[in-house]
Amino acid sequence: NGFVELGLAPELVQAVKDLGYTQPTAVQLRAIPLAMIDENSDNQHFTDLMVSSQTGSGKTAAFLLPVLHTLIQQQGQAEAEERAEYERLAAEAVARGEQAPKRAKRKNPLSPRNFKAAQPGALILCPTRELAQQVAHDAIELVRHCKGLRVANIVGGMPYQLQIAKLQNADLVVATPGRLLDLQRSMQIKLDKVQFLVVDEADRMLDLGFSDDLAEVNQLTAQRKQTMMFSATFAPRIQQLAMRVMHDNGSGVQ
Ligand code: AMP
Repeated sequence: NGFVELGLAPELVQAVKDLGYTQPTAVQLRAIPLAMIDENSDNQHFTDLMVSSQTGSGKTAAFLLPVLHTLIQQQGQAEAEERAEYERLAAEAVARGEQAPKRAKRKNPLSPRNFKAAQPGALILCPTRELAQQVAHDAIELVRHCKGLRVANIVGGMPYQLQIAKLQNADLVVATPGRLLDLQRSMQIKLDKVQFLVVDEADRMLDLGFSDDLAEVNQLTAQRKQTMMFSATFAPRIQQLAMRVMHDNGSGVQ
């Protein structure tokens, strides 16, 4: 299975297998290694990417897989640290002759008492509601074996309470720019923890007049982050947008 050779987490390899993907597509083969940090390399920085790809090329998995892979790794590290800290506290308590403390329980996010703004680590921006739904659907398929990773889709028309509750615990959010900024302004979501920003169908984003919204989202997200832009064409106006939202000019994957 060609996905194993890409170095993806076993949970993701299993998910693509379930979906019946046997080999990565051309865009996946090129983009996934560039988007991931090579553990054997001295360079431990993420690169920004500009990827030229058509619908049907497998572009969605080309950006979802590396982002999910890094989220899984980070989550594993955070859990290991939390466990070590708990074990340290428990050992100290036992040494003092006390009972080991109980582990903290998860709070019910549906209760208004427990409200806190969502702080996702990854954000995928799509030009239309339909595309955002499709991408969120693909992401949910890909995280089926990842216990702690949650995906939320920001769209209008869903019951408010449920959408906010789902959003609160989301690690990866898929949204259209306008709706996302509405939620950011009403403080339902904070974007400063976003370390992965994907702009899907950048050419359609521009056609639909989202250029300023994209620049605003870019400002609100973490300064040090990985930005990936996918577009069917690389007309000069797309390159101008890339200059506005990317740190470097990207590796220009075709
Ligand atoms: P996309 O270009 O992302 O819209 O993907 C087009 C279709 O290809 C979707 O139905 C995907 O589920 C499918 N797909 C993506 N990657 C692969 C792969 N490596 N092998 C087979 N099908 C794939």
